[in-house]
Amino acid sequence: MAIIEVKQLTKVFGNDAGRALPLLEQGWSKEKIAREAKLTVGVNKAEFSIDEGEIFVIMGLSGSGKSTLVRLLNRLIEPTGGQVFFKGKDVVKMNSEELRTFRRKNIGMVFQKFGLFPHRSVLANAEYGLEVQGVDKRERTRLAMEALELVGLKGWENHRPDQLSGGMQQRVGLARGLANDPDILLMDEAFSALDPLIRKDMQQELLELQARVKKTIVFITHDLDEALRIGDRIALMKDGVIVQIGTPEEILIQPANKYVERFVEDVDLSKVLTASHIMRQPEMIRPERGPRVALQLMRDSGVSSLYVANNEMKLQGVLTADDASRALKENKSILEVLQREIPRVSPDTLLNDLFELMSETHLPVAVVDEADKLKGIVIKGAVLSALAGNAVPEGGYGS
Ligand code: ADP
Ligand code: MG
Repeated sequence: MAIIEVKQLTKVFGNDAGRALPLLEQGWSKEKIAREAKLTVGVNKAEFSIDEGEIFVIMGLSGSGKSTLVRLLNRLIEPTGGQVFFKGKDVVKMNSEELRTFRRKNIGMVFQKFGLFPHRSVLANAEYGLEVQGVDKRERTRLAMEALELVGLKGWENHRPDQLSGGMQQRVGLARGLANDPDILLMDEAFSALDPLIRKDMQQELLELQARVKKTIVFITHDLDEALRIGDRIALMKDGVIVQIGTPEEILIQPANKYVERFVEDVDLSKVLTASHIMRQPEMIRPERGPRVALQLMRDSGVSSLYVANNEMKLQGVLTADDASRALKENKSILEVLQREIPRVSPDTLLNDLFELMSETHLPVAVVDEADKLKGIVIKGAVLSALAGNAVPEGGYGS
């Protein structure tokens, strides 16, 4: 279900900004509008919807319109045109009372420079949003303490921000954003000021936190690595326009145009793509079938081995044509001759690691879940092809 839906959302800065709308309609660029109408296009007819519980990343270079877009969602910036729906209700049409309630109950915000007050305690900083909203002292202390515990800062509430490391300060900012238990957390370059290593930790922590609290998160970054690491989907912006929306894999493997292609060209696919992206359906057989059936199946489908899985899809092993012939000759069952020692990986194994594994084996690698259920197989050609940056065909690779 979509929690946020945005239609033709537009922001133009400058005097009588509405003048720009017909010009945008005619396809004028941001640059032309700046030159000839003396107006700045912040966001140009953005359209997307965000699902409940999703981490939606807005990515783009500095000045591409990310901050403007995210501030339009809760009307910290008034749109010049278009609509924002929160659970079906048009935020742009809300009166000031409704808007206040919407911001208090449904939205939390986290900013880049943490936005902490140095003279206030960690607790008072975490309470700040609630205080502004007029929540009474006892209640806001209770809520802020809960949020601090959630981000792992229990015991630090009476310290001042400058007694904390950068990562911990960012967590105070996060606690403040979470204190009102919002449906949606808006994070504008929240990790951009952190050192690279601390930043990676925070990304991981955010993913873990999100798995626990299941908030919808709109996360802004100009960093592609960060976007790929944490985004369920990514919207890539340029000059106020969203040029592509997709999963990290879609952005990498099927860039919508030259701009996106250039944006992602330096990405090391082997560290992003996983076994689940390139696996294909194996030819299978049940263990209770006989070797004669197995040989027939191999002939029919033109393969020289079959994956043996029981009726719960639990992987038993691989049966080669030679194994099957031997079983036929010696009057044995499939289970007596199949090879049980076959390479297995989990679906989220990175190509990088797969590649190493595959150089040591001639068999395809079986992709199994934590219950050893067969999900697919990866053949060597698929790994090489994906590493070479070729698009993954629909339905995975053929043999
Ligand atoms: P980003 O967050 O991606 O760096 P912004 O949303 O801050 O980009 O800015 C998008 C565009 O809008 C830029 O061209 C910027 O100069 C312009 N802009 C942002 N805020 C204002 C403002 N208050 N007044 C005029 N122009 C603005
Ligand atoms: Mg910004």
